[in-house]
Amino acid sequence: MRLHHHVRTLFAAGMLIVVSAVHAEEERRELGPHVHGHGTLVIVVEDNNLQMELSAPGMDIVGFEYEPETARERKAVEDALADLKEPLKLITLPESAGCTVTSADASIAVKDHEDHDEAAGAEKTAETDEKEGRHTEFRASYALACADTASITSIYFPFFNRFSGSEMLAVTTITDNGQSSYEVTREVRRLEEM
Ligand SMILES: [Zn+2]
Repeated sequence: MRLHHHVRTLFAAGMLIVVSAVHAEEERRELGPHVHGHGTLVIVVEDNNLQMELSAPGMDIVGFEYEPETARERKAVEDALADLKEPLKLITLPESAGCTVTSADASIAVKDHEDHDEAAGAEKTAETDEKEGRHTEFRASYALACADTASITSIYFPFFNRFSGSEMLAVTTITDNGQSSYEVTREVRRLEEM
């Protein structure tokens, strides 16, 4: 099936990473280069089921990517993860689609400086600040059951209201009709004519 082929292709490209962590634990896994301000959202529509995979740099979500140190920073991370588990408050689907969330997970992926150095091909001394080169990404994985996915012709993104560091989301949709790419931005928070 064409749909499945696309899904496999995305997996192979490393664009779709299934986040299985239910709790707010950190994950140490391969983290590709990211651009602060730029996140990604993959939406897979199959019949009346919707799957979404969201990924955004820590900078976009909480404004820092180091290990939270203060109570305030820890709370910022906890609050962000809690809010990321309520996708319909961040990514608004048309009411006529009748979508309800059947699962929502959020977690943080960490890339530490050793990995970073390797990726950059640069050598660092032992004095290197622990924080230097550390990057984090918030990831969320959603499943929704809808009454009518065909009526999802536009999507609004309160995501940008909630996460002030985010400037852009690159959105990929995968449906029976194939794969499409869009950009939604802080300036234009709506995806139209899907
Ligand atoms: Zn970063």
